[in-house]
Amino acid sequence: MIKNYAEVLVERTLENLLRNNPEYANICKCDNCLDDIKAKALNNIKPYYVTGKIGEVYSEYNMLEYQNSTNIVMEVAKAIVHIDANRKHNP
Ligand SMILES: [Zn+2]
Repeated sequence: MIKNYAEVLVERTLENLLRNNPEYANICKCDNCLDDIKAKALNNIKPYYVTGKIGEVYSEYNMLEYQNSTNIVMEVAKAIVHIDANRKHNP
């Protein structure tokens, strides 16, 4: 089984940003919008495929290299703003 570890990182980053940043207090946090934010961010982030159980098999060196080459926080922050400005449903 392969899994894109970038999805896990995007999910964690999104949760942290929404929880800790007062500027995102008014962002819609329904499942649809959160999925849209994650999809938008992931489209701009290089995938990081791992096999087996997440968190056990990836090499730490590659992980560091990946995080340095990919600005996950920046892409997630951009996606939050974009999706909020293009919300698919009424408030
Ligand atoms: Zn929503």
